[in-house]
Amino acid sequence: MTPPSRILVVEDEPDIAALVKHTLERGGEMRVDTVTSGDAALKAIADEPPHLVILDLNLPVLSGFEVCRILRQRPATQHVPIIMVTARTSESDRVSGLDLGADDYVTKPFSLRELAARVRAVLRRRQTIESSAPQPQSYRGKFLTADFDAVAVAVDGRTVKLTRREFELLKCLVENRNRVLSRDRLLERVWGYDHAIETRSVDVHVGRLRGKLGPAGDQIETVVGLGYRFVES
Ligand code: CA
Repeated sequence: MTPPSRILVVEDEPDIAALVKHTLERGGEMRVDTVTSGDAALKAIADEPPHLVILDLNLPVLSGFEVCRILRQRPATQHVPIIMVTARTSESDRVSGLDLGADDYVTKPFSLRELAARVRAVLRRRQTIESSAPQPQSYRGKFLTADFDAVAVAVDGRTVKLTRREFELLKCLVENRNRVLSRDRLLERVWGYDHAIETRSVDVHVGRLRGKLGPAGDQIETVVGLGYRFVES
């Protein structure tokens, strides 16, 4: 039997934290710890990085955005999966969350079933990455060099810092180079969802990735009406 996945819930409203904990622990596959502030979250995560963080955006003192940014800046925690919970519904908040490296977000009020499904999807994705047989994979183009085993990406010899999602997106595009991948296919391969989420997430991430890759960003072509294609330089 595999040990339960450790989930950290960062939520200042005790009722919500208790409901989430109860829901996720029900099947016995997850163990949930809860903290009520960003400070406590950073300390708990530094002590023992969890398999996934469910992070409320509206926290006293240190906001969820700040916690996310700090986690992504620290090497030890930069790849910890984060699902952001926001009461705000504006697109700019969601885009900011993804930009800061959150893996997904849910909007309050959320259904506990939906949250649990998203948590499982992120955990499944992580397990797939860990259990798939490692094959040495790299790419060397005119500007871009990528070592997918070492998680090292450089453009013109300069290291490019990608979020985990951007890295997986690049990997998927490069592995399927010169082939068109639809947004749905990318969602399935990179996000691992079996239920519908906004395809706009793909566009947002591709946009960020292109920006970070500078001259190599042009290698990711938009194929109107179809999706995206990575072309050889
Ligand atoms: Ca809150």
